[in-house]
Amino acid sequence: MDLFEYQGKQYFARYDIPVSPGGPADTVDEAVKEAASAGYPVVVKAQVQVGGRGKAGGIKLADNETEVREHAGNILGMDIKGHVVRRLWVEAASDIDEEYYVSFTLDRSEKKHLMMLSREGGVEIEVVAEENPDAIVKLHIDPVDGLSEAIARQACINAKLPDRAINGATDILVKLYRCYDEGDCDLAEINPLILKPTGEVHALDAKVTLDGNAEFRHPEWDAFRGLTEMDDREKMAAERDLQYIGLDGTVGIIANGAGLAMSTLDVVNQVGGSAANFLDIGGGANADVMAGALEVINFDENVKSIFINIFGGITRGEEVAKGIVEAMGRVDLKAPIVIRLDGTNAEEGRQILVDAGIPEDKLRSEPTMLEAARAAVALAS
Ligand code: GDP
Ligand code: MN
Repeated sequence: MDLFEYQGKQYFARYDIPVSPGGPADTVDEAVKEAASAGYPVVVKAQVQVGGRGKAGGIKLADNETEVREHAGNILGMDIKGHVVRRLWVEAASDIDEEYYVSFTLDRSEKKHLMMLSREGGVEIEVVAEENPDAIVKLHIDPVDGLSEAIARQACINAKLPDRAINGATDILVKLYRCYDEGDCDLAEINPLILKPTGEVHALDAKVTLDGNAEFRHPEWDAFRGLTEMDDREKMAAERDLQYIGLDGTVGIIANGAGLAMSTLDVVNQVGGSAANFLDIGGGANADVMAGALEVINFDENVKSIFINIFGGITRGEEVAKGIVEAMGRVDLKAPIVIRLDGTNAEEGRQILVDAGIPEDKLRSEPTMLEAARAAVALAS
């Protein structure tokens, strides 16, 4: 689960990581109220789950009420890379001497946590990695050992942070690691981590992804939920326990396995189409799962064709086929289906689809992923 900046900062605060005082606002009047209690000057910040808000005009300094009204009015409703701003975060403005970057995430290949620290913050870390890779200090952390203060301090020195920033930065690194580890984050990132003229070090932004697998031990995460950015399709999918991500294209995608679903998106793109979604039905291709998947895709007004891409492994082809036939009986589909069914018992599965007597213009089978993608894209255009 991805948190908004202000939720990330609330999470940071639980671990004693310094952030600026502020409050959320959904209207201009609320923004004025929050500005008054934070104290001028303030920063008015768009709450959308996408980076580069600053450049897009979603972050503005305001010295007084008139400016807060102006900026809040402009930013609310603004579209930032396809994300509409519904909420603001208004916080006391900080004076900045320097901007750093720090993050913790999991390095699966090393089976360790990875800390990245850079004295060049405030810009996208990908850009720093490209243009000045030496400016990023990478440190693998064994989850059993954790991150000691001594190692955190050495990382700050290696990253060439100035002497006066070392204590404050070390302290935040240790706290942020605790937040990441005990707080069950997949990602905890501060960009920028700032050094103030006073010498204090402070989190100016927050990017936090919570690990859904740890949800059972965090009842407090419920507070974050209702507010996370889900469109109606994603809400529908979540209710059906489907691994679904909404996209902007016209070909609805159903695949079994995340890897296959990803390649399906690629192949659809490759033949000139665009996917309406990512949807991994996992191993369960029974009628309930398939009907749920088709319902969500059917709800999407942009969908002009549906590409079901199944490679039977443990999931057998005839189970999938039966699931599709039954699901098609339950859901009144607006778009035609193209299916590629391969793997275990694919023959039997295809026969079931033929025997079901579903007309060609509603469901057709193609022998390969590429041909099925072409057919689905042709139907969608
Ligand atoms: P992002 O663009 O979405 O990553 O949003 P950030 O919260 O990281 O803000 C982007 C940039 O705005 C920062 O790197 C700062 O340069 C600037 N900024 C944000 N808050 C403040 C503030 O309180 N004071 C000042 N002077 N600049 C700020
Ligand atoms: Mn940022």
